[in-house]
Amino acid sequence: MQYFSTNRQSPSVNFAEATLAGQAPDKGLYFPQSIPSIPTNILQNLASIPSIELAVTVLQPYVKDCIPQPILEEMVAATIDFGFPLIPITDKIASFELFHGPTLAFKDVGARFMSRCLGYFNRGNERLTTVLVATSGDTGGAVANGFDGVEGVEVIILYPSGKVSPVQELQLTTCGNNITALEVSGNFDDCQAMVKQAFLDVDLAKAYQLTSANSINVARWLPQQLYYFFALQQWQHAEPPIVSVPCGNFGNICAGLLAQKAGLPIELFLAACNANDVIPRFMQTGKYDPITAIATISNAMDVGNPSNFIRILEMFAGDKAALSQALESDSVSDTDTISTIKKVYFDDGYILDPHGAVAYQVLDNYLTAHANKKGFFLATAHPVKFPEVVEQAIGVPLPIPEKIQPLFSKQKTSIAMAPSFGVFKEWMLRF
Ligand SMILES: *Cc1c(COP(=O)(O)O)cnc(C)c1O
Repeated sequence: MQYFSTNRQSPSVNFAEATLAGQAPDKGLYFPQSIPSIPTNILQNLASIPSIELAVTVLQPYVKDCIPQPILEEMVAATIDFGFPLIPITDKIASFELFHGPTLAFKDVGARFMSRCLGYFNRGNERLTTVLVATSGDTGGAVANGFDGVEGVEVIILYPSGKVSPVQELQLTTCGNNITALEVSGNFDDCQAMVKQAFLDVDLAKAYQLTSANSINVARWLPQQLYYFFALQQWQHAEPPIVSVPCGNFGNICAGLLAQKAGLPIELFLAACNANDVIPRFMQTGKYDPITAIATISNAMDVGNPSNFIRILEMFAGDKAALSQALESDSVSDTDTISTIKKVYFDDGYILDPHGAVAYQVLDNYLTAHANKKGFFLATAHPVKFPEVVEQAIGVPLPIPEKIQPLFSKQKTSIAMAPSFGVFKEWMLRF
């Protein structure tokens, strides 16, 4: 499979090259030259196919000239060694829980797969690959965990001091090994600006082989398709589902659209946003007006200029009518997000995190207007990662899942960093 840049000003590359580069040199995003269809016999027997086999079938066409099948099988098996349960909440709405991975966030799958790809592509290479990533909380933990101990790869994570939850901070700062956490005395936008500038810096490009670990990277983006296949394996109704996805950078939903193009029966995607409503407004007006990100309680979705939307436009070749057939979008305020967490807890005994709550609400609104439909939403993070908001809404403390209890006896190690590219660059050149 070749990948072309959405800006069409740089040459097509293979999967390994696209993974190592992250973004294309012309600042476009890499996109696969074709979207492979899933064989009909697989789609017809979806429920009975073991998840690793299914995952290899889906991913193989995307990587096959760069990763031999047995290696791909190993990578996939190591990536998805936990469950993805679809839990009914009402007779019409189910929660697709993507938070059973090591850091309790859906980003685990992408980060774990990408780290294994980088490790594999970098084998025998004397030069380290350095992954640079800015996080508002969730990405950093998944990346730290996914890359922990991967040979030939160094990871530097920038996070805003005091603005991530205690669990998130421990996940970021306790790996040691090849993971370095920089605690920036600023906000997420500062961290992101520092990382973006680093990728453009000539001196750093000489000193480091830099790559990103956000959903711009094909190796993190493409495996997210698997979720949708795993959900459909468990979907019990005859009619295809309405699928509501909590969106930030639009990587996850864009992967879902790929799965649908590959043949997976999904009736409609709902792109659920918080106050950062650039795409809901685009779908209404046809105008794409990026904004400066607004801080909300679903902070992993606080994105004012979603990178992956360009890939969605690419997929529909600018055909607005076809896009509207496949995707609708709506936004939910913080006040309504809190009411939803309360309502679903007191009515149905289910605890939502703020991101899942946004997606729940958008789905519920849609199903209220379309009485005979059913669907599921993606629960992208465990509620315990956002304890303040959730505990206040439901009025009871959240138990800490056993999986993350060992974190609390670990020692935080971070390096304080001013929110200045100059200071950061100097540190990098000495590192
Ligand atoms: C990253 C993240 C999202 C948004 O996913 P995108 O692929 O960026 O749209 C939603 N929820 C949680 C919990 C996240 O960490």
